[in-house]
Amino acid sequence: MIEPAIEVRGLKKSYGDSEAVRGIDFVINRGEVFALLGPNGAGKTTIMEILEGYIQRTSGHVSVLGFDPDSSPEDLRSRVGIVLQETGVDPYLKVGEIIKQFSGFYQNPKPINDILDVTGLKEQRDTRIRRLSGGQRRRLDVALGIVGDPELLFLDEPTTGLDPYARRNTWNMIASLKELGKTILLTTHYMDEAEVLADRIALLNSGIIEAEGTLGELRAYKNATIIKFELDDAVNRIPVEISKLANVIGNEVKLETTTPISSLAILTSWALNEEIGLRGLSVQQQSLDEIFIELVEGRETYNRVRPE
Ligand code: ATP
Repeated sequence: MIEPAIEVRGLKKSYGDSEAVRGIDFVINRGEVFALLGPNGAGKTTIMEILEGYIQRTSGHVSVLGFDPDSSPEDLRSRVGIVLQETGVDPYLKVGEIIKQFSGFYQNPKPINDILDVTGLKEQRDTRIRRLSGGQRRRLDVALGIVGDPELLFLDEPTTGLDPYARRNTWNMIASLKELGKTILLTTHYMDEAEVLADRIALLNSGIIEAEGTLGELRAYKNATIIKFELDDAVNRIPVEISKLANVIGNEVKLETTTPISSLAILTSWALNEEIGLRGLSVQQQSLDEIFIELVEGRETYNRVRPE
């Protein structure tokens, strides 16, 4: 059996009294793109820095390409590429010059032309770093992360702050790296990014993995149907079976149900009997966005409407 690229079991990390990572498990197979998706402060960077060997875990088992990153073995460092949120480089150097400089750190660096090709920076070879756009600058960070031709790449928020066009270019670059067989762990705030790029996604919230799997698995995770409608101001009661499932904000009612047919039957027969309009009534599968937001925000219910 091929050993996974990364294996994490029962990982915990505390800063003083505060627990940033509260016992997580995941496995990343070779050649996979795995996304840690979560809001600010969820613990994404902490996990990545533990895997990179930058910071020490409090407890748990971690294996990266078969090594414990805590012992920071030389063998491991040469096989891993790390792209942090910001790389400090001399802004007056040209793109080609900095890549060449970084190539000197490795025994078998990737050819400069290949790096420029895969990162889409061929035309910027002679451009000074300070003249690069935000997206090009981010792709240069990735270029510097792959100079040593690593098998495993850590990308910390590769598209944060980029415009939609630059994001798409960065996505194309990450897809090309995947085609080269690289294993990639990326962190992101963006649902669409995880959806487009990742083979598997871990939804991280407050140091816990709330759900993990392929896009299809996450979609099936709750198998919930969302029913939405608006009530008139005059209506201040809804059936108890519905209110149990409802999240009411102002006049908008959102129900999450795993039995949509019976929920709809209760709702519509009540509306017919009471002659109540259900404005904008819609019935949809719960999207990944909604699953995520729900996990992150919890269920804040502003119950203006009392149950019957
Ligand atoms: P972001 O998306 O903002 O980068 P994140 O998901 O990467 O967030 P982390 O940076 O890993 O989250 O932070 C997780 C928690 O740990 C946060 O509550 C943060 O304040 C805390 N934390 C991170 N680094 C330290 C540190 N060096 N000392 C104390 N607390 C820290």
